[in-house]
Amino acid sequence: MPEPRYPHIFKPLDLGFTTLPNRVLMGSMHTGLEDRVWNWPRLTAYFVERARGGVGLMVTGGIAPNRRGSLAPLASKLTNRWEVMRHRRMTDAVHEAGGRICMQILHAGRYAYHPFSVAPSPIKSPITPFKPRGLSDSGVEAQIRSFVRCARLAQKSGYDGIEVMGSEGYFINQFLVPRTNRRKDRWGGSFENRMRLPVEIVRRTREAVGENFIIIYRLSMIDMLADGNNWEEVVTLGQAIEQAGASIINTGIGWHETRVPTIATSVPRAAFTWVTRKMRESVSLPLVTSNRINMPHTAEAVLARGDADMVSMARPFLADPDWVNKAAANRPEEINTCIACNQACLDHVFQNKVASCLVNPRAGHETELLIRPAERKKRIAVVGAGPAGLAAATTAARRGHSVVLFDQADRIGGQFNMAMRVPGKEEFVETLRYFSRQIEITGVDLRLGTAVDANLLQKEKFDEIIIAAGVTPRDPGIPGQDHASVLSYIDVLLHRKPVGKRVAVIGAGGIGFDVSEFLVHSNVPDTPDPDHPQAEDFFRQWGVDMELNGRGGVEGRAPDFGQPAREVTLLQRKTSKLGAGLGKTTGWIHRTSLKNLDVKMLGGVNYERIDDDGLHIRIGEESRCLAVDNIVICAGQLPRRDLAEALKESGIDSHLIGGADVAAELDAKRAIDQGTRLAAAL
Ligand code: FAD
Ligand code: NAP
Ligand code: SF4
Repeated sequence: MPEPRYPHIFKPLDLGFTTLPNRVLMGSMHTGLEDRVWNWPRLTAYFVERARGGVGLMVTGGIAPNRRGSLAPLASKLTNRWEVMRHRRMTDAVHEAGGRICMQILHAGRYAYHPFSVAPSPIKSPITPFKPRGLSDSGVEAQIRSFVRCARLAQKSGYDGIEVMGSEGYFINQFLVPRTNRRKDRWGGSFENRMRLPVEIVRRTREAVGENFIIIYRLSMIDMLADGNNWEEVVTLGQAIEQAGASIINTGIGWHETRVPTIATSVPRAAFTWVTRKMRESVSLPLVTSNRINMPHTAEAVLARGDADMVSMARPFLADPDWVNKAAANRPEEINTCIACNQACLDHVFQNKVASCLVNPRAGHETELLIRPAERKKRIAVVGAGPAGLAAATTAARRGHSVVLFDQADRIGGQFNMAMRVPGKEEFVETLRYFSRQIEITGVDLRLGTAVDANLLQKEKFDEIIIAAGVTPRDPGIPGQDHASVLSYIDVLLHRKPVGKRVAVIGAGGIGFDVSEFLVHSNVPDTPDPDHPQAEDFFRQWGVDMELNGRGGVEGRAPDFGQPAREVTLLQRKTSKLGAGLGKTTGWIHRTSLKNLDVKMLGGVNYERIDDDGLHIRIGEESRCLAVDNIVICAGQLPRRDLAEALKESGIDSHLIGGADVAAELDAKRAIDQGTRLAAAL
């Protein structure tokens, strides 16, 4: 065995009746597979793959203790013995694979997306259309009984324990704060009354399940609502939960209605572990910390500083089921790192799609997207080492094909070389590090600085040719666009051309937003470092008080993004809200950040001309000139098809993937998925 590089991660955790082999918990994630009976074999395969990957303990997505508490009309629940069978098949498979698994019991309360929801008081949430019914005293008792019954059924189903979801603004959290709890009975009013519900749930559950069963309580340690719990209340609850018989307390950060980013890529790594450390001073049971921990050196540092006894990572296990085994073997450079984009996981869940992963399209598709050894070894050319080409080349090579990967640039990555320069997107560099290492491991013959034409491909006799040549920027055809003040996003982000103080950005898609973010920041480093962004800066910007003096960690604080480096105006022709097409769970972060940095957003714009005075536009009947130093064009992209067409003319077939196939609404999720699936099938 090699000398362990991460001794704190691999120190077993003794819970008295059982010992966890390491300090890594796979946090609860709703995958969408739980909700349909026919998807349980897929769900089982998903957990088994992660159990084999060595994680110490896994927690399922939220399972409702009764119908009213379920997230959506047909969402998963565990309420009767008939449902035990399918859970049992899954837990048996996980145990056979050497894993341990707890079931999360989640009662949505007013966050439920159906008209039968219940809550402490009949107050609608800002993120759901349904007003919940306020519970009577016996109604509250019935919910507690549901939790206890659900825990008993989980025990019968073979789980190693349960997690009581007490955070993120769900049912239990709703009892804890006057914002959502206006009751005057024994469940409302004083904090002692408001916390009675979670304490009773844990106490009665412990009584029902006995000593040798894990009870994790997910405690909202910082609500990030101005009328959330104060720190004294949080500590009081933590101590009461320990007394009531929990085995572990897990850290919950923020409510779903919180307007501070908690897990997006712009949140610095391990930004919230200081909150768990603060709680550690007041309780003695093991504490799990959470949010934006994605690499072993980060997890190790968190544990070594004593911030927590365990680290929870959820999305990193979508990105790489073998995360723990790779860390144990001292091979962190082989980890496919979660870049916290939310594009294929959370954004999917909010659109009622099965969760997957942008960097690992097999996540959630383990039974169907199989990477098997090739039956016949082929010689394959891949043109373009952007995300699509990288995924195709390394997947094909892993299957045993002989792969040559060409790129005209002097480095791999295609457009990711621009994405990773955007402040808050530093994580994207990890994907390129991962693919770099995969190229070495799988023996892909990488030829950089090679602009490929049809002749070259014809000379070198390939069995298959994959064109992943990406895109070319769209020409918006604005009169005067060859003026010296006009730049493209490539000039700004890749070629680092100087940009003046006043800038107009034409096009408010993902790239227009990213370019604006880049322009309002000063001193953006040439080489992104995902460890670099500092938690202190982030909390100042978003108005979070690290002293936790006010309620919810934000009371009395205002966002402070500082002065923008440039005056930026972002424009589009559509009259709809700018940024409406950005990610479901991250678009609001981009919009809020740019607004706080004084970016002006104009819709319904006609571009008339560009000259020495600046950019002349018309909005409705009003014409005006934006006196700017530079105009940056981000007007979308078109597929780069010249090579594919030349091959076709020579009668040579090729496969088109990524932007070269379809540029409209292209993102790296589609590029990597398409590249992987094609290579899995060749
Ligand atoms: P590309 O990345 O464009 O790669 C094509 C490659 O082909 C290039 O390296 C090029 O040099 C090479 N090539 C072309 N022609 C030849 C030839 N004849 N010979 C040799 N090599 C050739 N997507 C997301 O999902 N999430 C994001 O947050 C995100 N942010 C972005 C931010 C910015 C600033 C930008 C610019 C893009 C962003 N994207 C994002 C989009 C994402 O990067 C693209 O969807 C993805 O890179 C497309 O992959 P691809 O492999 O099809 O093409
Ligand atoms: P895009 O999202 O298609 O946006 C293009 C923008 O240009 C739109 O605002 C469009 O708005 C404008 N436009 C289109 N034709 C124009 C014309 N002829 N003249 C002037 N303006 C024109 O494309 P993108 O911003 O280039 O991004 C490319 C891809 O990368 C996108 O598909 C996106 O998914 C991906 N990406 C994703 C992220 C992310 O965070 N997920 C970030 C960056 C990029 P009007 O037509 O209204 O003017
Ligand atoms: Fe992480 Fe993005 Fe994959 Fe979600 S989709 S697990 S955020 S890399």
